[in-house]
Amino acid sequence: MNINVLRLDHRIGRDTRITTHVCLTARAFGASKVWLAGEEDHSMMKSVKDIANRWGGDFEIEYNNSYMEVIMNWRENGGKIVHLTMYGSQAHEIVDEVRETGEDILIIVGGAKVSTKVYKNADWNVSVTTQPHSEVAALAIFQHLLMDGKEFDLEFENPVFEVIPTAHGKNVNIHDENRKIHKEE
Ligand code: SAM
Repeated sequence: MNINVLRLDHRIGRDTRITTHVCLTARAFGASKVWLAGEEDHSMMKSVKDIANRWGGDFEIEYNNSYMEVIMNWRENGGKIVHLTMYGSQAHEIVDEVRETGEDILIIVGGAKVSTKVYKNADWNVSVTTQPHSEVAALAIFQHLLMDGKEFDLEFENPVFEVIPTAHGKNVNIHDENRKIHKEE
């Protein structure tokens, strides 16, 4: 199952921080790509790419102002679409059905306002609780449910930085271009 995320209605400045967090959350929890719509933000995209390169794996980020083109292409290629909204069906009640399709999944998160076209073209409109909160929180919880916890075992290939989990302090391997490990001081 390939997971992509579509972030609607990005606004430069106002949404830079939250869209960055949408991208990093999508990647950390197992998405291979984020599509961005709204205002084209080269600087934010470069900063996400730089972080992804340093932390490993094959994450992509692409701008397309026509979010309907992304949605229609996804459908034409046989993928399924989940739109995260507080008005949808409860995530924990439908996630097994989504996973069991075995199809690639496009998860859409909104911005300030979301067109009814998005609701209509989604296979599932899905809520993570019925309370308003954040695209980052909704995305993390939904990806966690969809991955059935397997995001904790993901490996990101060829990182520069690699955290070695530790109860106290900070243990980080730094890989040089020859894959030799140095320790962060
Ligand atoms: N009224 C919006 C809605 O439909 O969820 C809340 C807008 S919120 C500022 C921006 C985005 O966060 C929404 O488009 C949605 O993707 C996500 N979001 C917020 N609360 C959510 C919830 N309880 N369940 C799922 N997604 C949520």
